[in-house]
Amino acid sequence: MSTDQEEQLSSYENQVQYYTDMIKNNPEYELVDIYADEGISGTNTKKRDEFNRMIDDCRLGYIDIVVTKSISRFARNTLDCLNYVRELKEKGICIIFEKENINTLDAKGEVLLTILSSLAQDESRSLSENCTWGIRRRFEQGKHKTSTKRFLGYDYDPETEKLVVNREQAKVVKRIYEEFLNGLTVDMIARMFKVEKVKSWDGNSNWQPSAIDSMLRNEKYMGDVILQKSYTTDFLTKKRVMNTGELQMYHIEEDHEPIIDKETWNAVQQEFERRDLFMKEHRINAYAQEPETNPLFGKVICGECGATYGRVTYKNRSGTVVRKFRCGSCNKANGRKVCSNRYILEEAIIKLFKMGWNAIAEHPKKYESVWKKNLKSGNELLCYKTRQIMEAAKKGPIQEFDPWLMIRVMDIITVYESGNLTIRFYDGTEFSYEAV
Ligand SMILES: [Zn+2]
Repeated sequence: MSTDQEEQLSSYENQVQYYTDMIKNNPEYELVDIYADEGISGTNTKKRDEFNRMIDDCRLGYIDIVVTKSISRFARNTLDCLNYVRELKEKGICIIFEKENINTLDAKGEVLLTILSSLAQDESRSLSENCTWGIRRRFEQGKHKTSTKRFLGYDYDPETEKLVVNREQAKVVKRIYEEFLNGLTVDMIARMFKVEKVKSWDGNSNWQPSAIDSMLRNEKYMGDVILQKSYTTDFLTKKRVMNTGELQMYHIEEDHEPIIDKETWNAVQQEFERRDLFMKEHRINAYAQEPETNPLFGKVICGECGATYGRVTYKNRSGTVVRKFRCGSCNKANGRKVCSNRYILEEAIIKLFKMGWNAIAEHPKKYESVWKKNLKSGNELLCYKTRQIMEAAKKGPIQEFDPWLMIRVMDIITVYESGNLTIRFYDGTEFSYEAV
């Protein structure tokens, strides 16, 4: 531990006390010594007597864990830091950087080493690469350039060079994340926003699904920044390309105030993956929705061949409109029937949903143990969906079919040739019924 000159002596004593107590109160630790260079300025590399004494003790094998406040307190420059971290690591000595929450012997420590080495390399690069170098230097100092163009939810403060939350716009960002996890697609959200005349960053309501898609994948909304997602290939033409591994990317956590909490952000990324998998599994090209006209679109699955059921609408002899769902693979393969699974009436599916949902909503206590287990699963998407179901179940059983509730809570209904039907909700709860 070392402190800077400008800090009060009391602060220095407080810090010595803090670390003494911390180590004494941890039964797994045994205090070797406190090494504190009092009042040494940040740039002075020579007079670090205490630091050097600590390194000597490490070399002599007296120490197996070094606890330090932060990277900047530990080392004076990148190369310095890299060399000491490497040396101690080889000896099996771990350094814990409290502020950055890094233990040099675990995976995060590996990432630190990678970043430090590329920084050290950059520092020795020639002047012709000054531009890239500049960005990296700024990163090392905790600063970096952020483009705020076309960026809903944040304003850029040129003085602090930080992103500042724009409260009005942040509401729209939150809504996008919520609606996506309510089960809506980016196309559906764009359609909804156009109708509601929700304003984007430029005051327009001309929402593009692709823009919403990239907002849902943007790590800046959870307060992080990934640097060098794209880079300049040629300084003359200033052409920028996506970085697909050619250059080191830096992921900085807690760079600025988040709009979306980490759990929700991660849940959204898992939901993207889940939908991709769903499309592959059921052989569909797009995860689409028509909640206003055909809410069960993509929700009914053939238990025999795995395809999704599609709706057919016609009038029977007495003139009433009949809506049936049948296995999608019936239409394909040159019109030949490839799957002979049974039809199901739309009203039967709706009835099934109401029965299934009300079984949960009438006796939520019966599902509490499942929900508790889900919440402890560590799977962010499962946690999020479970909480949504718990919330919705509080409102009690439903009389009328609500397509928005269905999209939010129900995963799929599977139809089997035997006449069995299963309904599965996003919390994993499943019911089986006999078709009539
Ligand atoms: Zn089928």
